Amino acid sequence: MEQVLLLLTTGENGSIGKAEREAVTATRNLVCALGGSVWTVGLIGGTISPAAEQLAGCGAAGFVGVEGKEFAVSRYASDAAAAEALCRAIGAGLVLAPGSSRLMRALGGVAQRLGARIDTHVVGLRVQDGAIQADRWYYRQRIEATLTRAHRPWILALDPGSFPPWDGAPGTASVKRVPLELGPEAQRTDVVGLQAVDTGEQTIRPEAELLFVAGAGWTKKQPDGKTHVEEAAHLILEFVRKTKASLGSSKSLVDLAGEGQAVLPFLTHLHQVGQTGATPRHPKGLATCCHGEEPHVVGWRFIGERRAINLDANCGWARGKADVLYVADAFEVLRAALRLLEGNEHR
Ligand SMILES: Cc1cc2nc3c(=O)[nH]c(=O)nc-3n(C[C@H](O)[C@H](O)[C@H](O)COP(=O)(O)OP(=O)(O)OC[C@H]3O[C@@H](n4cnc5c(N)ncnc54)[C@H](O)[C@@H]3O)c2cc1C
Repeated sequence: MEQVLLLLTTGENGSIGKAEREAVTATRNLVCALGGSVWTVGLIGGTISPAAEQLAGCGAAGFVGVEGKEFAVSRYASDAAAAEALCRAIGAGLVLAPGSSRLMRALGGVAQRLGARIDTHVVGLRVQDGAIQADRWYYRQRIEATLTRAHRPWILALDPGSFPPWDGAPGTASVKRVPLELGPEAQRTDVVGLQAVDTGEQTIRPEAELLFVAGAGWTKKQPDGKTHVEEAAHLILEFVRKTKASLGSSKSLVDLAGEGQAVLPFLTHLHQVGQTGATPRHPKGLATCCHGEEPHVVGWRFIGERRAINLDANCGWARGKADVLYVADAFEVLRAALRLLEGNEHR
């Protein structure tokens, strides 16, 4: 029988977010597959009761927590101390946690202190012949591996976006507080606030239903022999705003800035999808004016349904990389789509 602990950190108002609720689903399913194991939720934060109430019906045997204003912020020393205290209080053999930036910073140190082993970027969990199998990708999503370990404690950090978020009803729950005095050495780092990269309007939306990818074709000469970069910028931004899609780009398009060519000013390297860019997770994706070359398409590994618009019926997307390819002019398609979206707004 495994003694399972799910470690979660709470946000400003003491509640938990989507990545944390995904980890709840993963833990519930794993414990169910293990049969006979018990699991406990361990909460770390400035306030933790709202999170326990949110998760009242999740099926955990109980809630433990480290609470206090010194645990409200993301700081290695205090988070690692709190996570270690919770693991020891439970005598946890298996520790699951969302791979949030906050916990990813602390968990390596926790593993070292506990004499544990840790695996990160876990995207799948199964039980086979009584042994836990954890899936993850290596080499920029090209090699999928399945890991299992006899060593305990074993810490597993789960990649956000890999499990459906748990959304059961809230209720009442009591949390057993684990006392933890932090010495001054654990509070030397003062967290003064969060600073996000300033990319103008926020167009990268990890939670979006749709990934909208813009390729270099938007800046190329069109059938009338001219470029139409301003209109391209307007169509892309309006479409992304109206559909609340997340904006991605091909490498060629974001690289154009460095080459001094006409570019779309709202695109940065953070938008780049592909082998040397991001591998976002969205249920649907639409590529426009993008050729669909392999180094770009490897970034689409976790996109559920793939569609592309390209003038070229022989582009990369046509070769088994898209579910649907519209052989069409993306300018025309987007103009028509925006007319429809505006029509819907006025109804
Ligand atoms: C080591 C390495 C790593 C790389 N990593 C990445 C990566 O991470 N991400 C990435 O994206 N690329 C990456 N690349 C580059 C990749 O191979 C391609 O060069 C790049 O993806 C091409 O970008 P694109 O499709 O936007 O541009 P292009 O190849 O120029 O394609 C433009 C497309 O737009 C279409 N088009 C033009 N006008 C219209 C219109 N009006 N309507 C519809 N379609 C139109 C054209 O038919 C064409 O297919 C990498 C390459 C290497 C060698």
